[in-house]
Amino acid sequence: MTTLFISDLHLSEHRPDLTAAFLRFLQQQAPQAEALYILGDLFEFWIGDDERSPLQLEVASALATLSQQGTALFYIHGNRDFMIGKAFARAAGMTLLPAEFVLELYGRRALLLHGDQLCTLDEKYQRFRRITSWRWLRWIFLRLPLSKRMEIAGKMRQGKKGKSLMLMDVTPEAVTHIMHHHQTSLMIHGHTHKPARHDLGFEVLETSGRRRPAERIVLGDWDEKFTYLEASHQGLQLIEKAVTTAD
Ligand code: MN
Repeated sequence: MTTLFISDLHLSEHRPDLTAAFLRFLQQQAPQAEALYILGDLFEFWIGDDERSPLQLEVASALATLSQQGTALFYIHGNRDFMIGKAFARAAGMTLLPAEFVLELYGRRALLLHGDQLCTLDEKYQRFRRITSWRWLRWIFLRLPLSKRMEIAGKMRQGKKGKSLMLMDVTPEAVTHIMHHHQTSLMIHGHTHKPARHDLGFEVLETSGRRRPAERIVLGDWDEKFTYLEASHQGLQLIEKAVTTAD
């Protein structure tokens, strides 16, 4: 049995190649897994479950098919699609998880998160994150007419151009703190678009009373290549594939 992890697909109408690659992934790799965890930024932008764009509907239906076939689906919000709500989750057959979630993963404790909360040097963004997690602001935004929300989203997207290439990396202090806090020696996240496995050089005392060497696994974004993490009783494997090949 395996469990798969992906993040940062940034699906949008502008990249049909990524949508096609994701749909292939859902048909080829995912059905063998007992669970698929999507750790945020599945979509480039999300202005509400009621948009019901062709892209949203296509992705929801492909996810729902997978979940009906027996692969359990879980979702943690990213900083771009943090407004994905219960209606979309229901349509896609996936369970929404909190921003930080500890999973029992084949005998290990694994902390799952999008990862934006680890980039503490980006103060401007952290301020944005605090504001956008205000429930009432989200509540008001989602009650604006769809056309108004599209307009706001368009402006925000333009403002972000250029900055997206200069993604901040995690700060070691934030990593150490969060792993000790959750008592997990393994952390899996996305957001930074720097796929890698990092031995962190310290140990974490887990809830079982065992000390284990800390490891941080970063999933990559989907562009020319995509990565996914495959976990099983045999261990963990970070796999990279080309988006364009139909293998
Ligand atoms: Mn992100």
